[in-house]
Amino acid sequence: MELKSAREAVVAAGQRLAARGIIIGTSGNLSVREGDHVVVTPSGVALDAVQPDDLAVIDMDGQWLTGRHKPTSEVQLHLAVYQHNAKARAIAHTHAVGSTAVSCTCTSLPPIHYTSLYLGGEVRVAKYATYGSKELAENVVEALADGKSAALMANHGTIAYGSTMDQACERLELLEWLCDVYRASVPLGRIRALTASELADVMQMYQNNRYASGPQQAS
Ligand code: 13P
Ligand code: ZN
Repeated sequence: MELKSAREAVVAAGQRLAARGIIIGTSGNLSVREGDHVVVTPSGVALDAVQPDDLAVIDMDGQWLTGRHKPTSEVQLHLAVYQHNAKARAIAHTHAVGSTAVSCTCTSLPPIHYTSLYLGGEVRVAKYATYGSKELAENVVEALADGKSAALMANHGTIAYGSTMDQACERLELLEWLCDVYRASVPLGRIRALTASELADVMQMYQNNRYASGPQQAS
């Protein structure tokens, strides 16, 4: 099964996120959906070293179609996000330090900066469940409800989806930056989040400026 551009997008994303310190070793997993096929990273491989032929292909029922390496243990997570978010065509899940720290201590990341709107505003922390489980997949789907394109996963990491792998990576990188700002703010004093009215003003400003890539409803 060829799926050349999907494979290349997954390989490029592994290198990109590792170069930025967001993927560490074999943690995390990536996928790109093309029609009823999903190209996924294998389980237990270093994502910055993975090559196009190393990737596995599954169908939307989770059937392992091709690839010599076993698909990621998070197949149910990826499939559930695709099934519940019509615009999702690529998913990135990682265990970066900053966001994982926030996932261990908070129930949500408040909208502390106007760029939170690119992720749907406040970012929820999905309830904890064992990695690879159906329960974890369900908890993440719940955290992504209402058009959110990213979520934190309690005591685990982060996930973001996009209509392309580049967009999923951009969202994941933005979430990491927001978590770093949050962590830097905590020792300084009480954190003030933007109000609903301030966020509405930002949306208005985006529209006035006709930002081609302004925040859009994720699904
Ligand atoms: P895999 O190596 O099986 O993809 O697992 C890594 C991971 O992040 C599990 O949540
Ligand atoms: Zn994980």
